[in-house]
Amino acid sequence: MRISEFLKLDIQFHNPQSAIRNNREEVIMGKADIGPPNFQEMLPEVIKKNYGNWKYHEILKPGVMRHVAESGDELYTVRAGSPRLVSVDFIRDICDIADQYCDGHLRFTSRYNIEFMTPNEKNVKPIIEAVKKIGLPVGGTGNAISNIVHTQGWAHCHSAATDSSPIVKALMDELYGYFTSMKLPGKLRVSLACCINMCGAIHCSDLAIVGVHTKVPKVDHEKVGAICEIPTTIGSCPTGAIRRHPDKEVKSVVIREDLCMYCGNCFTVCPAMPLADAEGDGVAIYAGGKVSNARKPPMFSHLIVPYLPNNPPRWPEVVDIIKRIVGIYAKKAHKYERMGEWIERIGWEQFFKLTEIPFAEQHIDDYTYARETWRTTTQFKW
Ligand code: SF4
Ligand code: SF4
Repeated sequence: MRISEFLKLDIQFHNPQSAIRNNREEVIMGKADIGPPNFQEMLPEVIKKNYGNWKYHEILKPGVMRHVAESGDELYTVRAGSPRLVSVDFIRDICDIADQYCDGHLRFTSRYNIEFMTPNEKNVKPIIEAVKKIGLPVGGTGNAISNIVHTQGWAHCHSAATDSSPIVKALMDELYGYFTSMKLPGKLRVSLACCINMCGAIHCSDLAIVGVHTKVPKVDHEKVGAICEIPTTIGSCPTGAIRRHPDKEVKSVVIREDLCMYCGNCFTVCPAMPLADAEGDGVAIYAGGKVSNARKPPMFSHLIVPYLPNNPPRWPEVVDIIKRIVGIYAKKAHKYERMGEWIERIGWEQFFKLTEIPFAEQHIDDYTYARETWRTTTQFKW
């Protein structure tokens, strides 16, 4: 690239508005390496043509949707569940289906469902057959459980307190019927994050599982001195639990156990302070969150089970409790009520009673500003 061209791009990079205005083609459409390609390049023709002009959509049956545009054009979507960690062969298989029936287009939803889109109704049946042939379920639309969002787990991330894929697999084996049908009262979004960094959306899902450490990091003084920067390590702790080693001769840190909340922040900054622990690590379960604005504003999830041990490969305790909650919700909630709305209507006391989850001290919100979130009405109970 000539210098003059480079400078032109550089100016546009620092002034994206003018870049879009002046040279959208050149900068946004991929000639400059400043981020992902423009999504409009990837849209199926029928979506490009009717962009922003859709009249309505409907769910024809679990996993199959029809969108109708103002122009009269139609778009059929087949939604399939997918695993999150996938192989190259798997990607080739789904691309083959997209090539054959969807003009080479497919998309992943934010919950890793795969959507095959076609303007031809006659393609819907063959897509469903092809999807089922590679072992994927069709569903996840409307009042159903969608694919479970989950994070990396032991396979990939350094701070995981639990594994993700096996728990999700064991759970979906049990909840499969709620994916392929629409018999739940409302939408059910389940997520899993393997540590409290929460790369999964556990803070705002109907049901959520989060990996928790329960022991303070083990400081390897020799390695801390060799590979970690002390001020950065001390600064990484949100509760101020990390202090300089009292012996000035030792280039390391110590941890005040009473202040540590086992978040793992320090381990990200200083790998010489691992906190994974085969005995202590486990999972907590949350309930009642949602992102949607329908009926009620978005809601945060609340802690319902403070700790369950890691029990690979099938985590039966976790599966049992989630399955129990979903079963009771399916029976008791009103039509279209989300998990959190149902709990709010019946009250948390009733929720704990129905699900037979023991109430524990960890359920009491003792965060400094918790007063804002407590129930402070005359019906305040605990
Ligand atoms: Fe890693 Fe924590 Fe994210 Fe899991 S949730 S992928 S352990 S940072
Ligand atoms: Fe601080 Fe979190 Fe490390 Fe504990 S685990 S010392 S709270 S950064």
